[in-house]
Parts: sequence; C-alpha cells; structure tokens
Amino acid sequence: MTMEISSILQGGYNHPTSRSWQSQRQLTKSMLMYPIFITDEPDARVEIASLPGQCRWGVNRLKEFLGPLVQKGLKSVILFGVPVHCDKDERGTPADDPEGPVIQAILKIRALYPELYIATDVCLCEYTSHGHCGVLHEDGTINQAPSVERIAEVAVNYAKAGAHCVAPSDMMDGRIRAIKLGLMEAGLANKCMLMAYSAKFASSLYGPFRDAAGSAPSFGNRKCYQLPPGGKGLARRAIIRDVNEGADVIMVKPAMPYLDVIQDAAELAPNHPLACYQVSGEFAMVVAGAEKGVYDLKTMAFESVEGMLRAGCTLILTYFTPQFLDWLEV
Ligand SMILES: [Zn+2]
Repeated sequence: MTMEISSILQGGYNHPTSRSWQSQRQLTKSMLMYPIFITDEPDARVEIASLPGQCRWGVNRLKEFLGPLVQKGLKSVILFGVPVHCDKDERGTPADDPEGPVIQAILKIRALYPELYIATDVCLCEYTSHGHCGVLHEDGTINQAPSVERIAEVAVNYAKAGAHCVAPSDMMDGRIRAIKLGLMEAGLANKCMLMAYSAKFASSLYGPFRDAAGSAPSFGNRKCYQLPPGGKGLARRAIIRDVNEGADVIMVKPAMPYLDVIQDAAELAPNHPLACYQVSGEFAMVVAGAEKGVYDLKTMAFESVEGMLRAGCTLILTYFTPQFLDWLEV
C-alpha cells in the first residue's frame, strides 16, 4: 500500500445519495420565497423584457398566476408594488394606499390561499416623485427621521392588512427599531415577522428589477444609503445593528458576489434565520449564460443556490422559484 488512509476520499461520495449527504443543508421548497410584482392595473399581465419569464400582475390575475405554483408546493412570496397610475409625491403616500396594489394583493392572497406566507417589501422608491427610498431634505439628501417614521408607518399598515412579514429594503438608519416599535404599538409584533435587508449593497445587479418596478431614482444614486460593495466591515456592523434593533431575519442582497458577507452574517447572527436575495441581475445573468450555451440552466441554477446554502442561508429569495418547484421533490 503506497497511499495513506487519509488520502482516500472518493468512497464517501461515489453515489448520488452519498453526495447529497455532503451538503450541510439541502435545498427544499420551503426555503424558497418568490418575489412577485403587483401592478395597479387589476387585469394586467405584462411581461418584463429584462427579467425572463417574469411578469407584472394585476390583483385579478393572482389566482391564475399563483394557483398552479401553490399546487406545486409554493410556500411563500414577497410582494413588490408597481403602481403606474398613482400620484407619486415627496413622501410616498401611495405606498400604503388601502386601494393600492400591495394592500389589495395581501387581502386577495390571504383570501385565496390562507396557507401561503406573505412577505411585503417595504420601501418608498416606487411611490416617491423623486424615486429615492426615503424622504429628502431640500438639497436632495436623505432626511433620516421622517424617512424612518414614514417607512415604519407603511410597514405597520402592511401588517395590519395581513402581511406575515414586513421586509424594509430602504436602508435608512434606525428603521428596524422604528418598525419593531410600531408593530408592538399596533399589537402586531407577535404576528408579523420583521426581515431586515441588513446588508444591501449598491449593486449593478438591480437593473432588471428597476425595469420591472419602475423605481430608478430621478436624480443621483443610492450610494449614500446602500452599502459600498467593498464594505465588509460596514456590512458586519449593519448586521449586528439590525439584530440589536429587533430584526427577526437577517438578509444579504445581492447573493452571488457577496457569499462572504452571508458567511459573516451566519457567524454574527447564528440564532437568526438568514436570508439572501438572488437579485434580478443575477437571475438574468444565469439565464443569459445558459442561452449562450455556457452551461445547462438547471445545473447552474442549483449550483448558484448551493453556494448560498453553503455560506449559511436558510431562506432564499429567487426568481427561479417556479422552476425549483418543478425540479425539487420536497
Ligand atoms: Zn427603495
């Protein structure tokens, strides 16, 4: 015998089943949260060119859209409102309009599919005249206190309408604490989960989403509130802050270029569920590569998500959810 015992590894993964045991975590349908776009045209079904296979849906089409997915085992969705007819203003008044798309969709989905878990993205950018995520000073910079107050108000109104989870993506300082206190005051803190987009980076990968949601800022950019891509330490501080402010789930966004940050979050918040968002640009990139023949779509979709699981995620927001529901057995 010339080889050392410790050199022999292949016996441990020579069968598909033993290979599956090498993962610390297996992807299951319940780990998937599907991001969906709800518009204020009740009968709409509009394809989003830059986000292959995804549409903007009107409330009256939700049964046709979600019914087959629920049948296949869809467990949760996250709603993004895409108003096209509302009057946008400085403080994003339409965000929590009781007749607006998000609140109407919450009511509709709760009635249609009482078991389906409904998260709502909470931000102002789809509803403000300037397209920024908070309320602004006259010079165009973020006015922190009224931003946080308004974000918390919107979150509480989504919770009142029946959202199981509110997920602020605005990145304003102090909004997790304000939302938690708002939920407590409304008597909803024990019924509504607070998922913090804690480490949300100013990424180039949001392009298709902005197409879908019509949420590009009318001037400037979001670099004064979203994190700089190199800001590993800043992300760690944001994660710790949001844990201390009362977040129930920590999220990292985007996912694929930030797997080290996901791993940091797993270490810093080991007692919290950990989410990541495979954002629109990541999804479009994976699909485009497959179309170019670089790899097989299904194999690459799994590989991309396996990286997130390996880094520590327990919940994945992905536009691949409908495909995974077909591909996965459980
Ligand atoms: Zn925003």
